[in-house]
Amino acid sequence: MKNSNSKNTQNIITIDGPAGSGKSTIAKLIAKDIGLSYIDTGAMYRAITLIALENNIDLEDEEAILEKAKNYTIRLDSNASDPDKYTNIYLNDRDITMDIRSREVGEAVSIVSKLSGIRKFLVSLQRDLSDKQASVIEGRDTGSVVCPDAICKIYLTADIDERVKRREKQLNSNRQKSDRVQIKKEIENRDKIDSTRKDSPLVIPDNAHVIDTTGMSIKQVSDEIKNIYHKEIKNKNK
Ligand code: C5P
Repeated sequence: MKNSNSKNTQNIITIDGPAGSGKSTIAKLIAKDIGLSYIDTGAMYRAITLIALENNIDLEDEEAILEKAKNYTIRLDSNASDPDKYTNIYLNDRDITMDIRSREVGEAVSIVSKLSGIRKFLVSLQRDLSDKQASVIEGRDTGSVVCPDAICKIYLTADIDERVKRREKQLNSNRQKSDRVQIKKEIENRDKIDSTRKDSPLVIPDNAHVIDTTGMSIKQVSDEIKNIYHKEIKNKNK
């Protein structure tokens, strides 16, 4: 568990939830509005998956993937001006922002994310980042494992058809091919692996506020989260 003396846990908002629940859009917006940094942990799992795929490493070969990954610095730049690019991500100096969004990476990422050694490696990087800066951090285990002491923990969800539509829109705006049946299959498969894996499965974190975003606008969701955050700050300062 994270050391609860860690400096910035009080200035952290965690947002977890299944694929397509709106985490990235909402997290980025809230970070901008409140003036916090934005940490996209899914992009980090995707980056490691890209390393495995490009080096033809077996997706279950934890040791070989870690060995290779240690040759790279993974850097996130959340100030991407294009709102459709949630965060820019670099492997050393190479911009892999678009590469990590490919269908190939999408299909492989949940397999690599199951590996405990990979999780340990990335959780440590994520805690380093969140210790340094007040942040909105989003993913599958940010409220349960990475920052369990965060002042505001959110779990976003939405019904599957809405999540498929959002993913389709995102692919279209990135000018990537989309096929609704294929997207639904990919999302369902990813959710199943993410929520049934042994290490850090996707769960509703203790004390998290659950928001079903089906039928809600981006503004409605972000306003609700900002209200919760401000209430939590007030309670803390009472
Ligand atoms: O959020 P995104 O769709 O980019 O996440 C890609 C995948 O990375 C997830 O489906 C999951 O397998 C993995 N992931 C994870 N833990 C996180 C964030 C993402 O296992 N904190």
